[in-house]
Amino acid sequence: MEGKATYIVRYGEVALKGKNKPYFERMLMERIKKVVKEFGDVQVQREDGLVMMYAPLDLPEDKLVTRVSKVFGVDSISPAVEVVPNIDEIQKAAVAFMLDRIERKGIKTFKVEAKRGDKSFPVESPQIAKTVGAAVLKGCKVLKVDVHDPECLLFVHVRKGKCLLYDHKISGCGGLPPGTNGRGLVLLSGGIDSPVAAWMMAKRGMIIEGIHYHSYPYTSQRAWEKVQDLARILTEYCGRMKIHSINLLPIQEQIVEHCPEEMTTILVRRFMMRIAERMAKQVNCSMLITGENLGQVASQTADSLVVTDATVQMPVMRPLIAMDKWEIIEKAQEIGTFETSIQPFEDCCTVFLPKHPTTKPKLDRILEAESRFDWEDLVQQAIDNRETVMITPEV
Ligand code: ATP
Ligand code: MG
Repeated sequence: MEGKATYIVRYGEVALKGKNKPYFERMLMERIKKVVKEFGDVQVQREDGLVMMYAPLDLPEDKLVTRVSKVFGVDSISPAVEVVPNIDEIQKAAVAFMLDRIERKGIKTFKVEAKRGDKSFPVESPQIAKTVGAAVLKGCKVLKVDVHDPECLLFVHVRKGKCLLYDHKISGCGGLPPGTNGRGLVLLSGGIDSPVAAWMMAKRGMIIEGIHYHSYPYTSQRAWEKVQDLARILTEYCGRMKIHSINLLPIQEQIVEHCPEEMTTILVRRFMMRIAERMAKQVNCSMLITGENLGQVASQTADSLVVTDATVQMPVMRPLIAMDKWEIIEKAQEIGTFETSIQPFEDCCTVFLPKHPTTKPKLDRILEAESRFDWEDLVQQAIDNRETVMITPEV
């Protein structure tokens, strides 16, 4: 497209879908179109296994690429040059492309790789690479061919009606487009783990809504703001997101008053799950998501998870269950939540923390402890008194 910067957007797993492929492609297109809106006049077109973007020349490349690389379903992006599929034109464009690379990056070696997607194009791939390489050598005297370790690997991709030239790919997030895989309610603390868990489920196409528990005034307003900050980072990937904030303190106080101290943590966790399941039903989510991880703390031993799980009937997704802490931290850094997560604000889990929490809870004993106070109304009140906010991405 004349006077526009061209970008190739490749989709990974979406391309593997069988009969449902058009649906996934449509959802991906919708999402890309939505996120590029903020950049003004960017055209997005789908064509035969690729998405093409055409942007104003003065739009900074890294801004657009960073934004689109966060769209779930996008595998990679390449800034490209588009020419008509004619070998003379391709040669001319290749020379101009390499002159630009010499000027901007000071490259000295190159290699051409060609792919003939359109089999009606009269020149075969190896021959395209050869003739384009020869033209580049002639037009760029400083360049030499290096077939093993070239500083610039020029891809020439002949397609129906056009030829694309590019020399690098920027990785996208992968996964599946938002909205293609149900709705889940994530138990979102201000910690490192739960935002990563939410991100991982959203990556598989799930629409995410959040629920956060606080124990005000033992926990502060700042802790709640931190959770909103984390959600805001997530929205760069998954689009706007609702979070419900729920006061757990009245229930925690009853637990502390009536139940054995060592059971406090596991009982609090059971109430978190119980309330989350009821909220999920109200907001049309069919699954719960947590950042739990096997063996990380007392409430996440195998026995504790069994007792926690027994609270609810809904499937509980725990995408971090088998990861090591450093792997979770690495992921948090990669998606951009880590720095916010490590800001030191109290979590309601740490209020009334028992000295020696049980690591081997028994369900019958836990149920007996839970029967020592009347919690039905407290659960309902907690839900009724919730505060809900809609978090939107920062532009
Ligand atoms: P995180 O880093 O996610 O806080 P954690 O290692 O601190 O995890 P726990 O505090 O035991 O683990 O919590 C386990 C999971 O329970 C969290 O990943 C989250 O899904 C949920 N959770 C914990 N505290 C809260 C809270 N205050 N509000 C909502 N969910 C919570
Ligand atoms: Mg936590």
